[in-house]
Amino acid sequence: MVLIFRKEIFESMVNHCRVEKPLEACGIIVGKSEGDRRVALRIYRAINTLKSSVKYEIDPETLIKAFKESEEEGLEVLGFYHSHIHGEPIPSTTDREKAYYKGYIYIIVSLDRGEAKGYVWDGERFKEELIIVRP
Ligand SMILES: [Zn+2]
Repeated sequence: MVLIFRKEIFESMVNHCRVEKPLEACGIIVGKSEGDRRVALRIYRAINTLKSSVKYEIDPETLIKAFKESEEEGLEVLGFYHSHIHGEPIPSTTDREKAYYKGYIYIIVSLDRGEAKGYVWDGERFKEELIIVRP
């Protein structure tokens, strides 16, 4: 599986993470599946209801809005993103404990490293997937 971002959507996601610092930012990625490729078309900036710099929870209003609007438009929620203020873009213990959406993509943006990685939650573990950013 490959996740493809248009550059401006990817940058918008990273900018959101920067703006929220020192809190973890979080949001939702909407797009479409094309075979084994998933194409991100839009993000929803959500509120981190935990107001924390080490964990996050997406506010339920934005989550419902993203699922509802994407369905109405024939799109789908592909997954979620959040930032790590410090440290690598790898899932924390909390990220694993709180993972819920099986088959969905979880992107972690590391502000420290200036790097993002994507994972799919298979119900037991996060499996890293390739992210491609295109002009
Ligand atoms: Zn995390």
